[in-house]
Amino acid sequence: MSIAENIARVREKIEAAARRVTRNPDQITLMAVTKTVSPQRIIEAYAAGIRWFGENRVLEFAAKVDAIGDRSDARWHMIGHLQTNKARRAVELFDAVDSVDSLHLARKLNLAAAGLPEKMPVLIEINIAQEASKSGLGPDSSEFEDLLAAAPELASLDFQGLMTVPPYSEDPENSRPYFRKMHALFEEIGHRRLASIRMNVLSMGMSHDFEVALEEGATLVRLGTAIFGERPPAGSNR
Ligand SMILES: *Cc1c(COP(=O)(O)O)cnc(C)c1O
Repeated sequence: MSIAENIARVREKIEAAARRVTRNPDQITLMAVTKTVSPQRIIEAYAAGIRWFGENRVLEFAAKVDAIGDRSDARWHMIGHLQTNKARRAVELFDAVDSVDSLHLARKLNLAAAGLPEKMPVLIEINIAQEASKSGLGPDSSEFEDLLAAAPELASLDFQGLMTVPPYSEDPENSRPYFRKMHALFEEIGHRRLASIRMNVLSMGMSHDFEVALEEGATLVRLGTAIFGERPPAGSNR
């Protein structure tokens, strides 16, 4: 299957999942995750209509960005764990950081974004199952509350919502309770009407579980494998 065919198939599935829960498919964003994907294949996805892209590593994207070329209507999001010493580079390279996982990182990004003409869009990453192996703030953690409370001081950042990666399971139904919990958190924070915090984006769902995520209220799904095929195993020479 070509990238364009994969994208067409994924779009059909997004539409079907949205209709099952009477949601408007036009209000769902498809993000193509391009880690390990070559510039040429990224351009193929762009040609097939994708405009939202996610990358996990600053240096990998930096190495590809020239070859991808000027596609200024595309949006490039950092979605992987960001070390604070790369915050400045990330702000230069990306249009948004969807993986803000500490108050310290938010402060660094805020400083780095101070000179930008517009605020830097960010999402707060939540470690919904509180897995030791994963980054993200605990949904009930004091650091999460501290970050929400600090948002008005972080005036170069535009807090738009939440992102999560639930525990991996072969059976996507096992992700459903986590997606449901994320949606409840998203709604609860939205209802609090906190200063400088918007809750417009709920980024959750990957290739194996995006349909369940959409049924549970995701506004944005992040798909790599379903668009580009299997990646080389992590740690292999890529
Ligand atoms: C790799 C990755 C994805 C996409 O994963 P697939 O299973 O290939 O769709 C989505 N989100 C994040 C944060 C990722 O690292």
